[in-house]
Amino acid sequence: MNKKEEKKPKEKPKKEKKSQKERPKSKQKHKKVQVWKLYEVKDGKVIRKNEPCPRCGAGTFLAVTKNRKYCGRCGWGQIGKADKKS
Ligand SMILES: [Zn+2]
Repeated sequence: MNKKEEKKPKEKPKKEKKSQKERPKSKQKHKKVQVWKLYEVKDGKVIRKNEPCPRCGAGTFLAVTKNRKYCGRCGWGQIGKADKKS
C-alpha cells in the first residue's frame, strides 16, 4: 500500500443532482386513497373487501397486486398468492 494514497484528504463525491427541468413530470397527480371503496354494506353489515394488515390491525388494508400483498402504513409485505382462510 502506498502511504501517499492513504493520506489523501477525503473528498466526498459530489452528487449529481438532476435539475427540476430534467426530471420528467409525473403524469398522475397523487390522489387520496378512497377508503370508502373498500367497504360495502350488505344487510346492515359492513363487508371489508380487502385484507386488513396483520401488524396494524383493522382499519388498514393491504394493497393487493398480482403476486404480492403490501401494507402502505407499516411496510408489511407478503410475496405469494393470496390464499384465503380455509
Ligand atoms: Zn400495516
